[in-house]
Amino acid sequence: MKDSTHDIPILAPAGRRFTGTDRRAPLRDGLQGCGEYGAGQTAGRFYPVACVALEVTQRCNLDCTLCYLSDRAEMTYDPPLSVLLARLVTIQSHYGEGVSVQLTGGDPTLRKVEDLEVLCREIRRFGMRSCLMTNGIRASRAFLTRLAAAGLDDVAFHVDMTQERSGFHSEVELNRVRRKYIDRAQGLGLRVLFNTTVFEGNVSDLPDLARFFRDQPEVAFVSFQMQADTGRGFLRARPDTITQDSVIRAVEAGYETPLHFDAAAVGHSRCNRYAGVLTAGGRAVSVLSNHHLVQRVIGALEQVEDGREAHLDIRASVLRLVLRRPLLALRAAAHLLACTLRLGTGLLRGRLRRQAIFIHNFMSADALEADRCASCVFMVATANGPLSMCVHNAERDRHLQASDRLDGPAGPQWWNAASRNLSDHADMPGLGDLDLAPIKRLKGQLKARHRNRKDAS
Ligand code: SF4
Repeated sequence: MKDSTHDIPILAPAGRRFTGTDRRAPLRDGLQGCGEYGAGQTAGRFYPVACVALEVTQRCNLDCTLCYLSDRAEMTYDPPLSVLLARLVTIQSHYGEGVSVQLTGGDPTLRKVEDLEVLCREIRRFGMRSCLMTNGIRASRAFLTRLAAAGLDDVAFHVDMTQERSGFHSEVELNRVRRKYIDRAQGLGLRVLFNTTVFEGNVSDLPDLARFFRDQPEVAFVSFQMQADTGRGFLRARPDTITQDSVIRAVEAGYETPLHFDAAAVGHSRCNRYAGVLTAGGRAVSVLSNHHLVQRVIGALEQVEDGREAHLDIRASVLRLVLRRPLLALRAAAHLLACTLRLGTGLLRGRLRRQAIFIHNFMSADALEADRCASCVFMVATANGPLSMCVHNAERDRHLQASDRLDGPAGPQWWNAASRNLSDHADMPGLGDLDLAPIKRLKGQLKARHRNRKDAS
């Protein structure tokens, strides 16, 4: 199904404050509306959204061939801290405690570390989780140490061949960079995540890359993100050979075991596929192999949950499950024990760890699908509230130009990405004219076009 952007009636951000009573209801309604709220669905049932991106800058020190940023990204100003703090209040209003806030950009490490420390502290104070999304270049050990001390929970490194890092010719070679980044984060109490864009230039490397992730006990979460035709990046449409199924097969080849991406759902099945594994000593075993059991546990957790918080309190709910449904809890524990034993000699060689594997299928800017937009679990914080990430990426300039309004004792002030500072006037400047952009500010397809014009003349 292909809907044009104009046909979709749900493109507006969700507003600066949540006005309903059940924070999970909007996502649940969206999933129910498109038949995606089955027995394995966790979104809308246990949480109101998976994460919200807080873009702290549009600047980046790389120029990825599939970057989602706008052509005008390098012509914008960073949001003042007061704007970012106001957006955190909005995020908390919509999604409550427990939501994961992604400090992202651009690359967030281009901001002062002091700004990021303030944000980490504030996110912690609100009872939310923070995740630094970075290409890692400036995320030194000292930088991460400061953020960890300020309350940072997770660090997600984006490393792949779309970044054209000098001297690296394959994903396997890039594993040296990944390992260096893992070492930088080790011992700081941070959960380590990795993001990889899947495109024609690395699809044949996927099994080797997946095997690398399987064998890193420090890595808790691995995300494979399929090429999407959106943003300033030089590469455009995804080749037909890259599908959810082909990526699943490649990842399974790397983990050397079936991964059961269909047992538990995190949002729309055409957007996200999730698998969970136990790993030890170079072996992996899927923990979702028993669909029936997985879905019974999900149903039972829903029944025993008190539903007081926006996000499931997993520890308290599991405890209640043990008390109220002891036989089911026993079956689940026996299943996990059997999974662990199947790791065999791996248990002698390395630590037992859990790992989550995601495959994300972001939509192209000109092919948004209404049902997927309405049941999105990845939001971006805009001036006017959270908005689906794919919808946001399809019209980034429109949202960068929208003004944040801050109400203070001295009256309202406004800010948008075309202004360096807050203004007392609601009338904000427009984003710069691309034809007048200095060449050093061009990236992605515009930079390539400029180069081609120069070569031709
Ligand atoms: S996709 Fe690449 S260029 Fe774009 S923000 Fe991320 S690291 Fe920077």
